[in-house]
Amino acid sequence: MVAPPDVAQGHSGPSDEEVLAALRAGYRSIDDGYGFYPGFDGWLESLGYRRRGDIDCTCPDRGYRGHLPECRWVR
Ligand SMILES: [Zn+2]
Repeated sequence: MVAPPDVAQGHSGPSDEEVLAALRAGYRSIDDGYGFYPGFDGWLESLGYRRRGDIDCTCPDRGYRGHLPECRWVR
């Protein structure tokens, strides 16, 4: 029996570089007066990621110290 890949666990989240770029986009968005998340979310969406509300937390520490902005963003 072969389990379908990357369904329950091991979602393909953004890489460290992609998260850093999204953070920078968020800060630019703040500077432009839109707030952090429109820039951050829009950057990840432009890379093909979607924020999934129906999956478990994807933070490395499972959200123990609070959720990261990129929590649940997968593609
Ligand atoms: Zn989380």
